Amino acid sequence: MGSRGIALVGMDVKKLLTLLNKALADEWLAHYQYWVGSKVVSGPMKDAVSSELLIHAAEEMAHAELLTTRIIQLGGIPNLTPADWFKLTNCKYEAPADPFVQKILEQNIAGEQCAIGVYEKLMKLTKDADPVTYNIALQIITQEIEHEEDLQSLLEDLKMMFKHYGKK
Ligand code: FE
Ligand code: FE
Ligand code: MG
Repeated sequence: MGSRGIALVGMDVKKLLTLLNKALADEWLAHYQYWVGSKVVSGPMKDAVSSELLIHAAEEMAHAELLTTRIIQLGGIPNLTPADWFKLTNCKYEAPADPFVQKILEQNIAGEQCAIGVYEKLMKLTKDADPVTYNIALQIITQEIEHEEDLQSLLEDLKMMFKHYGKK
């Protein structure tokens, strides 16, 4: 850890580390939800949806990487125990038990909307107190907003198709 870097943080570092570890749990759960969802998804447009889910899975892991780097910089320990993910998570895990495209898209849209809220809060908290963490939260939220839009536009296309064929 860099002591001068930590001294720059104008807020409770322990509290910040807790929030970062909670976000880390969210990212791993989101990663797995997307990854396994991309494997089981079925129904119309499943190839397009599966490809997008797989890309998002990789991007959620990159978010975990950013958070972990910051946790270590702040002298913390990234959560070492996957069993704790369910205790730490803000956004929970929605098993893609129903593999239908629409259902999976809706589950992941809800996850993105939760994630946007998590990073919005983290940004508000760190805006003046910790610009480095603020910058990381900003990078991540920018991508979560992109994820939400990607999934909502796939869902719109799907619904358009249902509407079109429903008329016949
Ligand atoms: Fe993420
Ligand atoms: Fe995301
Ligand atoms: Mg995308």
